[in-house]
Formats: sequence, C-alpha cells, structure tokens
Amino acid sequence: MSASHPHGEFQLIRDYFQQQSLQRTDVPLGIGDDGAVVSVPAGRQLVLVMDTLVAGVHFPVETPAYDLGWKSLAVNLSDLAAMGAEPAWLTLALTLPHSDVTWVREFCRGLFDLASAHNVQLIGGDTTRGPLTITVQAHGLVEEGKALLRSGAAAGDLIYISGHPGEAALGLALLQSGQQPHPSFAHLLSRLNCPEPRLHLGRALAGIASACIDVSDGLLADLQHILTASSVGAELQLQQLPLSADYRAAADSAQPYTAALSGGDDYELLFTVPRQRQGDINSLMQQSECMLTCIGEITEGNRTRCLDANGIEYLPDSLGFDHFMESP
Ligand code: ADP
Ligand code: MG
Repeated sequence: MSASHPHGEFQLIRDYFQQQSLQRTDVPLGIGDDGAVVSVPAGRQLVLVMDTLVAGVHFPVETPAYDLGWKSLAVNLSDLAAMGAEPAWLTLALTLPHSDVTWVREFCRGLFDLASAHNVQLIGGDTTRGPLTITVQAHGLVEEGKALLRSGAAAGDLIYISGHPGEAALGLALLQSGQQPHPSFAHLLSRLNCPEPRLHLGRALAGIASACIDVSDGLLADLQHILTASSVGAELQLQQLPLSADYRAAADSAQPYTAALSGGDDYELLFTVPRQRQGDINSLMQQSECMLTCIGEITEGNRTRCLDANGIEYLPDSLGFDHFMESP
C-alpha cells in the first residue's frame, strides 16, 4: 500500500468486515462507531476468550487466507465450547503487512463461513499495519454459575476425548516434510487448518462433565492443566485412544501414540465425568457431532500413568512433529 493513503486503504478493508449478512437482534450497535453495544440477557453470564495467531509462529506463512479466517475464529469458539458457552459475538484485531484486498476477501469468507454456521456476529475490531497477526476475541453466554471449569475433576471420574486426537499434528508433519501427496494428506491438513469447534458437545456437557478443556497444546499437556487445577492424577489406557485410519496411515509405526498424546492443534474436547453420569455420555454419543471415547480415569495423587495393552507403563517421548512420520 502507498504510505500516503493508509487510512483510505484500511477503510476499504474495514468495509469488507461490514459485508457479513448475519445480524443478531441482541446487537443494537455493531461495526461503525467507537464501540459496539450488545444486550446480555438476564440470568446469563458473559464468557470472554481471546487467541492470537502470528504468521510463522502459529501457522506457516503460506497458509491460505480462507483457512486463516476459519481457524482464527475456530480456536476461539473451541475455548467457548470448553467453557460450555454458547457463542454470540466476536471482535477482530488484524495486523497486515499491506492492504491486499484479495487476501482480505478470502480471509473474510473463511471467517464468516464459520461465524454464520454458529450464529456469531462480528461487532468490531481494529486494523493496523505490521507483520501478519490475527487476534480474535469471542464472546459467549452461559447460564449463571454453569460454566465448565478445569478444576472439578475428582478421583474415580472417567476421562473422555472427542474426535480423533493427533490428526492435526500429522497434517502439519506431512506439510513440513514435503511428502504430499500422501493419501491421507487432504483430510489431515483440513483437520489442521479448518478445525470444527465442538460447540454442541460443550453445551451438552455443561451440567454433566466435572471438568473440561480443549486440546490445543496436546492431549497430555492439556490433561495436565485439568489435573493441576483439580489436584488429582490420571491413568490412561493407550489401546483405547481413538486413532483413525488416516492417523494410522501417517503416524510413525515405531511411535504410534506420540502424535495423539503430544501433538497440538486438535481442538477436541478433553473432559472428565463422574461414573454415575456415564449413562448421560452414552446418550450424548447418539446425537454428538463427533465420536466420544473413554480413555482412562482420574486417580488420587498427582501422577499421569499411561498403560499399554499389556498394562505396562509407557513413557511418552516429547519428540518434535517431524519425528512422527513414517519414513518414505
Ligand atoms: P477508532 O479510531 O474509533 O478506534 P477505527 O477507525 O479503528 O475506529 O474503526 C472504525 C470502526 O471499524 C469501528 O467500529 C471498529 O470496531 C471497526 N473495525 C476496525 N477494524 C476492524 C476489523 N478488523 N474487524 C471488524 N471491525 C473493525
Ligand atoms: Mg474512536
């Protein structure tokens, strides 16, 4: 962009953000003034989450703009899902190296595709120039006192994971290894770039689960947050991990569990359930948008033990993503 007309060009970009068709009735004032005004219903609490994606740190610089629009919102909606909240609004702080209208159009398409699927309205933001950085804040609603926390797990509770952990990490590994086309690449890459936030599941878990977190850093790392917050330990049965066919096709057969246990970016929900509520989870499975699998249980103490099919303790390694792969 020319340095002499920065405001005009960013104004053009801002105009793109007003193109969304979704208009919620609880937004008396959206984009265009100094601030947005929203109406919070009586009896509900506001849940606020924020996540930043930095080019070259959180995503490869050549990631398609559509995927970045989708993912920058998806990671936030995933946090709302983990809180048991229903998403309502979002704000967007976008730092762009230059005003590339084609990029912005694609970015908005990805963002608004996901936003309209969940009835979430963009109500404001900020646009600046600098290295590509995307910050989204999402705002959700939860019935008073009903937010799902990390701190409620108790010894004897069952540990569940949604979907298929490890697929996103294997997508990244394939991308970085230059091994495309691998037959599972398209699926694994879409799990990395366009994750589906588990919003219906999170809403359904409020009132059933004793603790919940979304998996962004890796199953074991995020489980540790629940364990620390709840002052408990865990025992995981590795043969129960729901490893998909695409996962098995791309994972290193010498370290079949590594990506599922340590790979990040899955945005699945990891949650604990008191045993007497197991029936509720079984009924939920019938209507859930994804698989729900019991992978272990909460224990006394503060250790995490991973047991293999023979009951032998498995010590997870923490190798980098490029070690997960089958060699060519
Ligand atoms: P101000 O100077 O008062 O902060 P701005 O010129 O930054 O206002 O923004 C004008 C309007 O455009 C505001 O309503 C703001 O929320 C909105 N806006 C700016 N950037 C974005 C963006 N990236 N996404 C959504 N809305 C934006
Ligand atoms: Mg102002």
